[in-house]
Amino acid sequence: MKLSYETEQEIISLRRKLHQIPELGFKEHATSKLIVEYLQSNGIEVTSGVAGTGVVGLIRGGSDGKTLLLRADIDALPIEEAVRSEFKSKNPGVMHACGHDIHAAILLGTAKILSEIRGSFAGNIKLVFQPAEESDGGAEPMIAGGVMENPAIDGAVAYHVAPLPVGQIEVQPGAVTAAPDYFIIHIRGKGGHGSAPEDCVNPVIIAALVTKRLSEIKTETPSVVSVCSIVGGTCENVIPDSALIKGTVRSVDEETRQYLYNTVKNITEEESEKAGGKADIQYNFRYPAVINDEDFAKAFAASAAKVIGQENVVRVEKRSMVGDDFSYFSQLVPSCYARLGIGIGNMLHSSNFNPDERGIAIGIRVLCKFVLDYLNTTNAIGK
Ligand SMILES: [Zn+2]
Ligand SMILES: [Zn+2]
Repeated sequence: MKLSYETEQEIISLRRKLHQIPELGFKEHATSKLIVEYLQSNGIEVTSGVAGTGVVGLIRGGSDGKTLLLRADIDALPIEEAVRSEFKSKNPGVMHACGHDIHAAILLGTAKILSEIRGSFAGNIKLVFQPAEESDGGAEPMIAGGVMENPAIDGAVAYHVAPLPVGQIEVQPGAVTAAPDYFIIHIRGKGGHGSAPEDCVNPVIIAALVTKRLSEIKTETPSVVSVCSIVGGTCENVIPDSALIKGTVRSVDEETRQYLYNTVKNITEEESEKAGGKADIQYNFRYPAVINDEDFAKAFAASAAKVIGQENVVRVEKRSMVGDDFSYFSQLVPSCYARLGIGIGNMLHSSNFNPDERGIAIGIRVLCKFVLDYLNTTNAIGK
């Protein structure tokens, strides 16, 4: 397995093409088309239109064996790009600010290299280009669309770019993302003249009390409760009838997740009722946390170390509380979600996000190495 200078340049230019045509969740039509064309031009079996804009490629090895699923998400964000470059987003208000163009490019490069040597390994590689990670979630509909079958998947891998130094990859066992649940709370009071609060039930005060208590919630395992929006009232002398609070609740295990749901609900109801108001709580459970399988993550880290050196396979103290619907794959098969360095200080979801493209080649080389190590080892044992 070798990544030539020419292939690296080809993949970087593909990434730039993808970067120029960012599309929001389930609207990744041009992105999907580009992916399909590239896979087909490399002689890879392709199924398009899975979960709408998802694409699945299949590389069959020289003989039967286990099947590894490699996933890249392909959607962009509703952000106006601030980075000036010759491959700046051509779609106003939409930007690849989470690096999914990098993920897709890495998977395309990996696909090209592994398809060229397909006779040399046993088993199969399924390439999953998944829509809508940022919005409604494309993983579940792709699974419903049969992506885990024919051939059945034995393990899954995904990258996410991260503000780590280029050349480093973060791999750890256990929970590596959080469940990104959220709430919208509608507090109803009784409006009236700002000069006579005694005749009113002020929903702004209730919202403030609820917000304060929500931000004080503590749990034994890592969690976050952030109130990110309070809207209520229109002017300085009218007490409004209602107020709205929105926030995110993140946890890494199901028990804490349920505890947080109950606590948010109880605090809100308690404060509202105490003040004589009422609350409607819309609580949305989104993706569960991604849980890396211990042995599988260890095997990935070992392969990565062979390529980039043990010292560059890192564990980061500060836990990331972002969400990713790769969790639906990780619930079904042993899996590893690894973070790939694209430069310190490169904040995801920022209009200035500008990943270092040298991370692409590193991502490809490590992924190819792991796939070959995995298929050769497991298939040799499995026979
Ligand atoms: Zn994102
Ligand atoms: Zn992302």
